[in-house]
Amino acid sequence: MFGVVVVGIGIAGSVRIRDLLSPLQSTPSESLKLQSFVSRRDLGQYNGVKQISLEEALKSNEIDAAFICTENQNHEPSIRRFLEAGKHVLVEYPVALSAQTAHELWQLAEQKGKVLHVEHIELLTGEFNQLKKEVDGKELVEGVLHFTGGALDEQRFGFQSFSGIARITWLVDLFGNLTVTSASKEENEEEKYSKLTAHFTTADNRPLTWIEERAPGMKREKKIKFTFKCGVLDTLPPAPRAALGPPFMQDQNLFAQKLLGQVPEEELAAEKMRILHCIELAERIKKCCQQ
Ligand code: NAD
Repeated sequence: MFGVVVVGIGIAGSVRIRDLLSPLQSTPSESLKLQSFVSRRDLGQYNGVKQISLEEALKSNEIDAAFICTENQNHEPSIRRFLEAGKHVLVEYPVALSAQTAHELWQLAEQKGKVLHVEHIELLTGEFNQLKKEVDGKELVEGVLHFTGGALDEQRFGFQSFSGIARITWLVDLFGNLTVTSASKEENEEEKYSKLTAHFTTADNRPLTWIEERAPGMKREKKIKFTFKCGVLDTLPPAPRAALGPPFMQDQNLFAQKLLGQVPEEELAAEKMRILHCIELAERIKKCCQQ
């Protein structure tokens, strides 16, 4: 059994507590035991789970692993402290707000012999699985991924290419490693409107564009237009329910499998390379926008 503490009780943290309290039968998650949670607010108890301080969590012998579910700005210091304290870490994406920090955190995890797992639930949804099947084997000519959503506070969630890393991850998982060719950002501070546009090329020199548009009340939606040699895909295919359970539950199972040593080395290495590549793209986009 691995004792777990959840840090940060927002949207993601609440789902984590729910899923840790009710693991699917006969899945690796049954080897995780939720011991307590850490919050900046004084909550006392949450769903029967007791609140403890961060210092208590770091020192506790009952806790083997931390789920970091705080806002992005806090990921780096939290990961460092739990790894330094000899705990495994699961962190909600993005792992960090710079490529150098992400590399350093992985080095630290390796040095300490602990698992550093970065959640990427966007790859575990029925919607994405279906899209991947549609794209598989088709030859890309050009493509656009356009995301819209509510305003996000950059102070808490970082530059838009980092808070939007899920979209970069989709494109990399669908079309392979990418190169950023240019990027720009439009902003209207008064209306809290922002629009990031990033241009990439694939290894075969095919152009891809990512647009991330945010404003208060803007509908959370993804639109695609992928042109292939054999035709155009301009709607997301209807998504069946993911067979392996809701995405956060699948991610929790993957983390438990890593703790149990059940994930092959080559899979771990490929995942780490994908995550670091996406963070490097996010950093390149940020630099282009700030030039
Ligand atoms: P949120 O704002 O709802 O929750 C963040 C919580 O962290 C807040 O309750 C805040 O008080 C708490 N917090 C911040 N600093 C803290 C600290 N030092 N100690 C303890 N608590 C602290 O945000 P969210 O949507 O839950 O997102 C959290 C993380 O999960 C982000 O990294 C986000 O990218 C990731 N994520 C969220 C979703 C989702 O569906 N909401 C999906 C995938 C990934």
